[in-house]
Amino acid sequence: MALALVLNSGSSSLKFQLIDPSADATQPPLASGLVEQIGEPSGAVTLKTGGEKYTVSAPIPDHAVGLSMVFDLMTEHGIGPSQVEITAVGHRVVHGGLLFSQPVVITDEILNMVRDLIPLAPLHNPANIVGIEGAMEILPDVPHVAVFDTGFFHSLPPAAALYAINAEVAAAHGVRRYGFHGTSHEYVSQQVPALIGRDPEHTRQIVCHLGNGASISAVHNGKAIDTSMGMTPLAGIVMGTRSGDIDPGIVFHLHRSAGMSIDEIDTLLNKKSGVKGISGVNDFRELRAMIEQDNQDAWLAYNIYIHNLRKYIGSYMIALGRVDAITFTAGVGENDVDVRASALQDLEVFGIEIDPERNALPNTGPRIISTDSSKVKVLVVPTNEELAIARYAVQLAGE
Ligand code: ADP
Repeated sequence: MALALVLNSGSSSLKFQLIDPSADATQPPLASGLVEQIGEPSGAVTLKTGGEKYTVSAPIPDHAVGLSMVFDLMTEHGIGPSQVEITAVGHRVVHGGLLFSQPVVITDEILNMVRDLIPLAPLHNPANIVGIEGAMEILPDVPHVAVFDTGFFHSLPPAAALYAINAEVAAAHGVRRYGFHGTSHEYVSQQVPALIGRDPEHTRQIVCHLGNGASISAVHNGKAIDTSMGMTPLAGIVMGTRSGDIDPGIVFHLHRSAGMSIDEIDTLLNKKSGVKGISGVNDFRELRAMIEQDNQDAWLAYNIYIHNLRKYIGSYMIALGRVDAITFTAGVGENDVDVRASALQDLEVFGIEIDPERNALPNTGPRIISTDSSKVKVLVVPTNEELAIARYAVQLAGE
């Protein structure tokens, strides 16, 4: 069985999954886990396989050591790299800038190009590079493939991709909309035409990826024509801890009048805002529990979130002109019945009609939740970015 190892590297962590790319999307991966606190005095490796969870604690100086510890642990459980056939490694890379529209096999030249993009993603790309280098050191004979979070949005038309700021400054500093969560938007939007019985070449759709980070995209006949995240993942709809779109003047005000530094404002808007900034929690399960207690901050956070979401959906309906499907995915989108109901409430005049019973069913796979008479089909399609990356990795490795 040809397997792919999928890696998602952060600066001090590494998430991994060992996946059979031909498996059904509902199957759990063969193994998954996390390397934590890389470079710190104490670290830990967690492996989940066969319904069990194993943890090893030890200092982990770098990503390569972390990965070799993962392999040792996998070997103990019969799924080490010499016991199974890993045919490709897929790496999630956050920023592909204007250089990458498609996944690529990683070479020295490609790695240098990813390095050139560091100014656009100063926190993420360096961590991705370290993870790639570590994995290539440990698995030198297997093709490594980079899959970019921005890739699917390479097709954005200029009117959607460019900001109305000084063109010279924008061009000199790469200021434009890149979009993120592209692997998820692509994976989900590709499934929709078959689910609603339409030709993919004639399907106009909106995808709402609502996780802790969240983004919406408008997809016209398979190509993204707009998306809510921007030059950075801070833009767009309200998220768990990120503000989403705000008046940019707020940043100047907080700096000049409130005396906050740029780093403090960065942290405020990325980590202490959004649903958490209003209610104190970012997990929608906790938010729901607070709403049930009639907590007014939780209600306010929810109402702001929904108001924003509806505005984006509305604007993409106009951008697309005709909408065949609106799809919800990711942690909140797949599981929160009320968010879906509130997002599309009272829109019958636009041909959108959710069926409350279908909406309330558990999330066991892709499904339609609109009524049979709803002109716009509403769906829940579970995302699986790791599986999408695994499929790309094995496909490119075989070319
Ligand atoms: P990310 O990849 O951005 O961390 P996920 O797509 O995994 O996000 O979504 C995580 C979020 O999904 C959680 O913070 C929580 O708000 C929400 N979530 C997960 N399960 C449920 C559930 N059963 N009901 C409502 N919200 C849920």
